[in-house]
Amino acid sequence: MGNPHFLAIPFPILGHMNPLMQFSHVLAKHGCKITFLTSDENYNKMKTTSIIGEQGKVKESNINLVSLPDGVSPQDDRKDVAKVILSTRTTMSSMLPKLIEEINALDSDNKISCIIVTKNMGWALEVAHQLGIKGALFWPASATSLVSFNSMETFVEEGIIDSQSGLPRKQEIQLSTNLPMMEAAAMPWYNLNSAFFFLHMMKEMQNMNLGEWWLCNTSMDLEAEAISLSPKFLPIGPLMENEHNNMGSLWQEDETCIEWLDQYPPKSVIYVSFGSLISIGPNQFKELALGLDLLERPFLWVVRKDKGNETKYAYPSEFKGSQGKIVGWSPQKKILTHPSIVCFITHCGWNSTIESVCNGVPLLCLPFFSDQLMNKTYICDVWKVGLGFEKDENGLITKGEIKKKVDELLEDEGIKERSSKLMEMVAENKAKGGKNLNKFINWAKE
Ligand code: UDP
Repeated sequence: MGNPHFLAIPFPILGHMNPLMQFSHVLAKHGCKITFLTSDENYNKMKTTSIIGEQGKVKESNINLVSLPDGVSPQDDRKDVAKVILSTRTTMSSMLPKLIEEINALDSDNKISCIIVTKNMGWALEVAHQLGIKGALFWPASATSLVSFNSMETFVEEGIIDSQSGLPRKQEIQLSTNLPMMEAAAMPWYNLNSAFFFLHMMKEMQNMNLGEWWLCNTSMDLEAEAISLSPKFLPIGPLMENEHNNMGSLWQEDETCIEWLDQYPPKSVIYVSFGSLISIGPNQFKELALGLDLLERPFLWVVRKDKGNETKYAYPSEFKGSQGKIVGWSPQKKILTHPSIVCFITHCGWNSTIESVCNGVPLLCLPFFSDQLMNKTYICDVWKVGLGFEKDENGLITKGEIKKKVDELLEDEGIKERSSKLMEMVAENKAKGGKNLNKFINWAKE
């Protein structure tokens, strides 16, 4: 049998597309064929950011890009994740079997042998199952967060969480004896704060279990205990093959940041970014702006220019920003490998966390929702490579608190040492690795 042909289907947001695109590049390097399915909307954006070359091929690769409508109507907001979950499930799932037929007809010697999906696209594993095609899950977050979702049913049975709302009846939850005790509010299904997401994830986990493997962008150095909790886990991370490129980027990266960083000495610039989805709120935005001023250190700050942000993100009149550079979207991976970066103020998205850890950059955590609070627990309490912020009585992280914690972090030799050690450990074991990747490709070949 020849090399496998994978159909990769990420949920059409950056935090899912980016790591699955990276994994697709890894598979392509190992001789596999990849068809990468995204929404028409993202396909067109990727064209404008020059990710796609001639005939739908991702540049410098053997990856074919195809698209289907996501079913979101023009007046609806694609930031409304619940809407996108529902519309992709109905629209894309009904069109997928025909698309597979067409792809296979064009490539009858190398038909699709396995479908890889990310979270929220579990319906595609049902389609794979019906068509007799193999299926695997690519989980774009930590193994621990997947363990937490997979524990929901048991928690409901044991009365630890409410069966309708998903709200916990306990203050603290421990997913397993060797995993850290966490505030119930750190569970990703808790802080989504909606019965819709809870019930969606209960159903989604049934579909995820149709996947033979749970591929995770993590490693044993980072999450050995969580990984040991299911034989389906196949850690294939950290995915850092293409350090210098975010191949799933949907916004034009501002490359001038690199030149700007070049002028600063090693470990002197603070990087600030909250990923592709978070809007931090106007009051927090102001405190952050003033806090960065107070630091009297150079900073590079990503303020996305999404529709509506112009008014939401009004800089306070006292804001000077004289030591900073503000960009709409950065080449983050390049930034985090740059020697002048000293720390990262982050929302603790899993990709940002991994990218920072792999470069030994200490983190300052400002998590909002989903798995971000759980990732913060790992950063601050398990790996001990970062610090969190305390909120004031209005739920704000004040400018004074920002200055205090950044100063504290920069003086903490233990955090610096542990960040470097963790980076080295992950890199060393990754260099030795590759076993899980071969296992996965061989399984898909069978
Ligand atoms: N990213 C980037 N430029 C930016 C901000 C973010 O390239 O200015 C990338 C970052 O490298 C990461 C992804 O966007 O790969 C964000 O993923 P994460 O899981 O951290 O957060 P999410 O966007 O899913 O909330």
